[in-house]
Amino acid sequence: MRAIVLGSGLLGITSAHYLQQLGHEVTVIDRQPTPAAETSFANGGQISVSHAEPWANPSAPLKVLQWLAREDAPLLFRIRADLRQWLWGLQFLRECTPARTRHNIEQIVSLGTYSRETLQQLRAELGLEYAQRTQGILHFYTSQKEFDGAEAPARQMRELGCDRRVISADEAVSMEPALAHIRPQLAGATFTAEDESGDANQFARALARRAAEAGVQFRMGHTITALREAGGRIDHVEVTDAEGRFQRIQGDAFVLAMGSFSPLLAAPLGIRLPIYPAKGYSVTMPVLDAARAHQVSLTDDEFKLVFSRLTTPEGDRLRIAGTAELNGYDRNLNRVRCEAIVRRVEQLFPGAGDTSQAQFWAGLRPATPSNVPLIGRTKLGNLFLNTGHGTLGWTHACGSGKSIARIVSGLSPEVDFAFTGMQSALPRIAAAAA
Ligand SMILES: Cc1cc2nc3c(=O)[nH]c(=O)nc-3n(C[C@H](O)[C@H](O)[C@H](O)COP(=O)(O)OP(=O)(O)OC[C@H]3O[C@@H](n4cnc5c(N)ncnc54)[C@H](O)[C@@H]3O)c2cc1C
Repeated sequence: MRAIVLGSGLLGITSAHYLQQLGHEVTVIDRQPTPAAETSFANGGQISVSHAEPWANPSAPLKVLQWLAREDAPLLFRIRADLRQWLWGLQFLRECTPARTRHNIEQIVSLGTYSRETLQQLRAELGLEYAQRTQGILHFYTSQKEFDGAEAPARQMRELGCDRRVISADEAVSMEPALAHIRPQLAGATFTAEDESGDANQFARALARRAAEAGVQFRMGHTITALREAGGRIDHVEVTDAEGRFQRIQGDAFVLAMGSFSPLLAAPLGIRLPIYPAKGYSVTMPVLDAARAHQVSLTDDEFKLVFSRLTTPEGDRLRIAGTAELNGYDRNLNRVRCEAIVRRVEQLFPGAGDTSQAQFWAGLRPATPSNVPLIGRTKLGNLFLNTGHGTLGWTHACGSGKSIARIVSGLSPEVDFAFTGMQSALPRIAAAAA
């Protein structure tokens, strides 16, 4: 079968790899000159099965309202005259009930656990190197109230098979000595030993190279302008190459993995995908003093930031990422947000990183209202989805890629998850995608 993968981010590349492994002739199309150059470029690096709590949860509506006027809010809705944003907001509110939240968490943990195992297998099989660390994720709290509230979600994670343990501030410091500096402010932490971190972009580029060696064709610098339907199937995609030449590319199956841009190409086919871009920031800086820098991947609960240490033979870097702004497709860097992140790094680990060489980046998370990605079938027989991975596209990449490759091939996925267009436990999302 000729399988065409639309998009070469983490989700497109993992889809292409597993499709090729199942014996298909695979072509990947992307507008960028290199793979993983958009949202999969400089994310927080965490493989965090333990962080399955979706943005939409019972406490979210009040928090979001309080944050509306705060320029440095962790989750900021910039209200626009944009119908898609309003519809997304309404669907988000519907996902905030306790029952929906619980259901969404179950989906996210199930896919996350499978995906982390799939990543570990792939890493072992191909010998991939991407600054990976397997020292767990430590989520620390500087507010006693928030720490007290951490017990219930940690228990829920444990019930779902993810061993997120509540630990004292002293235990946290003994696990990560770099936290000693803020010991007086630390209320406590949770720790998930099985979680990991690594450079998602390095991983994606390494996997793309291996896929190309195995025969996957990459058509980079090709902008997809339309998907054309004939007789209830996609007949071809229309693209414009880097020189502005128009082409049609035909295939037997098409996997839509264009991140935040997926809904724009699906809408003319009458397929409404509930995905809206949620802009996030990251800062990357060289390590200045290795003894002051953290080793374990961290989550700062108060500032909603994640920290990963990316160490390769070429260099040792700190990657800090977070914040979410729902403001359409704008990717401009907001100085207030960038400076707030650098200030926090200096507060926590003074002297650890070289802030004078900080590199700032912003990417658009393809966010669904529920945080549950859209993986599976559409109403068009040969159009498949692997998109809408929001905050956890790196964590879910390998499991999603392997699952969609199996679905395209007519095989059952290996994980219990509400795949779209297949007997789904998520009727609302599936209906929206159908
Ligand atoms: C600040 C930040 C921190 C994050 N931290 C983490 C983390 O710690 N852990 C985690 O699990 N996840 C994290 N994420 C989420 C993760 O990075 C994303 O979910 C993931 O990168 C999405 O991958 P994707 O392949 O769906 O989209 P993308 O990487 O955006 O890929 C889509 C591709 O489609 C291409 N494309 C789009 N339109 C067209 C067109 N018209 N023609 C041709 N090509 C097109 C683009 O060029 C792009 O290459 C973070 C995200 C952000 C922004």
